[in-house]
Amino acid sequence: MFESLSNKFSDVFGALRKKGRITESDIESTCQELRAALLDADVALSVAESFVSKVREKSLEVLPDLRQSTNQSQEIYAIINQELVAILGGAARRIRFSKNPPTVIMLAGLQGSGKTTLAGKLALFLKEDGNTPLLVAADLQRPNAVTQLSVLAESIKVPVFAPEPGNGVGDPVSVARKAIAFAQEKLHNIVIIDTAGRLGVDEELMKEAKAIQTAVIPDETLFVVDAMIGQDAIRTAQAFESGVGFDAVVLTKLDGDAKGGAALSIAEVTGKPILFTSTGEKLTDFDYFFPDRMASRILGMGDIQTLAEQAKKAMDGDSARRLEEKFVSGEDFTLEDFLEQLQAMKKMGSMTKLLGMLPGANNAAMKKQIDSLDDKELVRTQAIVQSMTPEERRNPKVLNGSRRARIALGSGRTVTEVNSLVDRFSAAQKVMKQMRSGGGMPKGMALPAGMPNIMPNAALPSRSTQGAGSQPPKKKSRSGNPAKRAAQEGR
Ligand code: GDP
Repeated sequence: MFESLSNKFSDVFGALRKKGRITESDIESTCQELRAALLDADVALSVAESFVSKVREKSLEVLPDLRQSTNQSQEIYAIINQELVAILGGAARRIRFSKNPPTVIMLAGLQGSGKTTLAGKLALFLKEDGNTPLLVAADLQRPNAVTQLSVLAESIKVPVFAPEPGNGVGDPVSVARKAIAFAQEKLHNIVIIDTAGRLGVDEELMKEAKAIQTAVIPDETLFVVDAMIGQDAIRTAQAFESGVGFDAVVLTKLDGDAKGGAALSIAEVTGKPILFTSTGEKLTDFDYFFPDRMASRILGMGDIQTLAEQAKKAMDGDSARRLEEKFVSGEDFTLEDFLEQLQAMKKMGSMTKLLGMLPGANNAAMKKQIDSLDDKELVRTQAIVQSMTPEERRNPKVLNGSRRARIALGSGRTVTEVNSLVDRFSAAQKVMKQMRSGGGMPKGMALPAGMPNIMPNAALPSRSTQGAGSQPPKKKSRSGNPAKRAAQEGR
């Protein structure tokens, strides 16, 4: 969603990097360009102005020292990053759990903002963390909201409290109140209340939300807002803050192609932190909000941390450990391991989304390659590997012509596709060997063999530099220091 903003920021940095020495007027023009980029992305005027004035002030402050610095643009970049993190809310916040369970979380916002979907996402997220949430159907207005929540609850195996049919029937305040008693009795440690929204901010909506809030005194009232509605998101948030009051914001539909202004302005304008973000219709498209990671994305540096966390989550502990042991002991990475990796990657979700977290993903050339990726490639690759015998997966060298033809037939793919997979796999295997033997990451990142290698120059840390426990390099590295090298070589 921050594509155009990120591109503009990249242009600004590009221009700044080209300057050997940065002057006061360079700082001024950078600030003007940043301001224009922010306004173009729909960021609230007050937020854009305050951001730019802080960047200007801090940059001018460091300017005298910059003159000695060899990396002048980098220091300005650091200031911009710091200010961007600040307007996004500074440090990441977490749910505040009540000392006396259940912790009550109330969701409020306009109709269609994604509250009901979010209730399901949040319940799943908290359940996976070892909690016992209860979903409460207190949106008794929107047609089918009760059914929608019940179906969602069933799909994630979380109990739902839905005593009223909804569609205009029932008292939401009484439902919310009874739900708390029910949760206490059944020992649910969290209660998530889905409330009704309206198409626009109106008196009725505020009154009902306020009445539920007064009745159950939530530990967290979360204001759910669709990031795609642009500046309206800010106005709605302000209206909710004065009419109902809330503790934190949840931004939904961040996967949309909106300009990102809402995300960038809402924390600063309302003074309330963004707690979660929702990035798709799937129940797993949801996470805590990390201001620093979002800033990194906007600045074109990707979000490697989230990517790594998702990978860890998708791959169960045992297989991750097994792979690690294999790597360290020098055993070959086989097509069986590869299949396991593919399955984990499928669990992580859309490839396009994953690659979008890499540094430079918003750059035009890279974007084109990512957009041309086909998520079905993973399924096809998996079908080919699954059509192999265990022996073939462990030792692809036995794959002669007739075996390849059989695999192609079994997986419904062509022999050329089978050949190409085996070739790419062998290349990936070589990369692993090279990394293990201390050669570091070769040019061309070791993306799993099923994935197109689209990051020719990405530098990942070499495993050989990750401390004790990993395989010692086969060849002793030679020091760049002539004295040290002489000592190493026994001279
Ligand atoms: P509610 O009226 O606030 O309860 O809204 P819903 O939960 O019914 O969501 C409205 C629509 O937005 C549904 O079609 C959801 O599938 C969709 N939706 C919710 N969250 C997201 C999201 O993060 N991304 C996208 N693309 N769609 C979403």
